[in-house]
Amino acid sequence: MKLFLGLFLCAFSVCCSSATFSGSRRSILREVNDKDQTGVDHDYAVELNATNFDSVLKDTPATFAVVEFFAHWCPACRNYKPHYEKVARLFNGADAVHPGIILLTRVDCALKINTKLCDKFSVGHYPMLFWGAPPKFVGGSWEPKQEKSDIHVIDDARTADRLLNWINKQTSSSFGLDDQKFQNEQLSSNVSDPEQIARAIYDVEEATSIAFDIILEHKMIKPETRAPLIKFLQLLTAHHPSRRCRKGAGELLVSFDDLYPTDFSSSQKQDDDKSQVTNFQICGKEVPRGYWMFCRGSKNETRGFSCGLWVLLHSLSVRIEDGESQFTFNAICDFVHNFFVCEECRQHFYKMCSSVSSPFNKARDFALWLWSSHNKVNERLSKEEASLGTGDPKFPKTIWPPKQLCSSCYLGHDQKSNKIEWNQDEVYKALRNYYGTTLVSLYKEKGIVGNEGTEGAALEDLIVASNAIVVPVGAALAIAVASCAFGALACYWRSQQKSRKPRRTWN
Ligand SMILES: Cc1cc2nc3c(=O)[nH]c(=O)nc-3n(C[C@H](O)[C@H](O)[C@H](O)COP(=O)(O)OP(=O)(O)OC[C@H]3O[C@@H](n4cnc5c(N)ncnc54)[C@H](O)[C@@H]3O)c2cc1C
Repeated sequence: MKLFLGLFLCAFSVCCSSATFSGSRRSILREVNDKDQTGVDHDYAVELNATNFDSVLKDTPATFAVVEFFAHWCPACRNYKPHYEKVARLFNGADAVHPGIILLTRVDCALKINTKLCDKFSVGHYPMLFWGAPPKFVGGSWEPKQEKSDIHVIDDARTADRLLNWINKQTSSSFGLDDQKFQNEQLSSNVSDPEQIARAIYDVEEATSIAFDIILEHKMIKPETRAPLIKFLQLLTAHHPSRRCRKGAGELLVSFDDLYPTDFSSSQKQDDDKSQVTNFQICGKEVPRGYWMFCRGSKNETRGFSCGLWVLLHSLSVRIEDGESQFTFNAICDFVHNFFVCEECRQHFYKMCSSVSSPFNKARDFALWLWSSHNKVNERLSKEEASLGTGDPKFPKTIWPPKQLCSSCYLGHDQKSNKIEWNQDEVYKALRNYYGTTLVSLYKEKGIVGNEGTEGAALEDLIVASNAIVVPVGAALAIAVASCAFGALACYWRSQQKSRKPRRTWN
């Protein structure tokens, strides 16, 4: 077992480098925006090279990618750059007018490191632009004589206008170079469209990452909040719908005692070792990306994080087993109570948590409790937002699920109490389908796979779980049976560390 653990930890340190604790690790996609904030001249197109080409294109939530092959010494490329940048600023970076649809990138073929990559795409002149779905570029190639290819040369892109016209034709869109932020015709207000929720997997990652950024930035880890955080991490390690967030949560769990000893909040180390602690990115270095997909509001200040958090909570609620329902209820209630920085929200939610009188024995009951609590919040907010005009006009609060998503969920309407009569079996089915299968369908479709197999397969694994998580020390082995090996071993390792060694301090 020792050997196995040793091998595991060794392999883990190599393959999980995206979620390590070291140094400054900023997302390539975010760099665009970071530089923007410093006022330094910056590029919107994402610079790729042979080492990050596959990972960035595999990871992007964008539906399409443009790859420009150029050479930094080429005068035509230099002249073309402002045109390319004009289009890139529409789609790339946190301030993009149309984020998450098209990723514009460039590869400098004059750099030796990129020679093979440029050869694979038969780059015959500079600049040369290609178009395709991002996964098609991953490990991909292009040949001039190839009859059928998923990657296309953009043959009419001499100016920004012409490039955008070409893109508009491909996507049947009408993007304009003068488009303003949030005048986004792509934004659909029908958020219950199953295709929309498929994009929410990115928002679940975004919300998870932001939640932990907030915890670290606001120094919210204190002796009294350690236990709730550990509980929530255990839940994420076992049931987060994204494999890389599960990995990151597991890694954090393993190192938790070392990184955040019980005297962490008072420790001078917290400031001394800031980079190590605050640079940890729970869902890997590409997240947060700085924008929302499913949870994007039509105004700057609406939706976003709180929407992403709801989606995360629902997605957890449909992945647990019966024996985990009370643990999950506690973990979620305590997490919101201790770490959700919206004071009003946490107060209201805690009240709802406190009003539950008997423990949950069934996963179904917990998922329905969360659904019903969310609807209570919606009901209250719909009135508040209507009177104050603070809501998002494109996303008014409504009772979920709407009839067009699940007509069988509706049994009738009780006139006396003015309440909807629900078919709760159908609602649970709808929740499982929406936040379970459909939520991750885009991941599957885009072939975003982990080293150990498909994301889909891992997710299927996670639906089978046990009640072991209720007892943290025994959790790891039982989760091992039911959950991904990573989460299991992380929990196990942590429990072993806890029972074996005395508590370490920063010194
Ligand atoms: C735990 C929690 C408590 C909150 N409490 C408050 C509060 O007290 N006051 C306040 O002003 N704001 C509160 N918020 C924020 C608020 O609920 C919304 O998240 C925010 O206004 C953004 O709304 P939205 O339109 O994006 O939809 P959200 O309400 O965030 O919902 C996100 C998505 O979930 C789906 N959905 C909606 N209802 C349900 C449901 N019942 N079951 C399953 N899925 C559903 C829809 O597709 C929706 O688009 C809270 C948020 C959280 C996470």
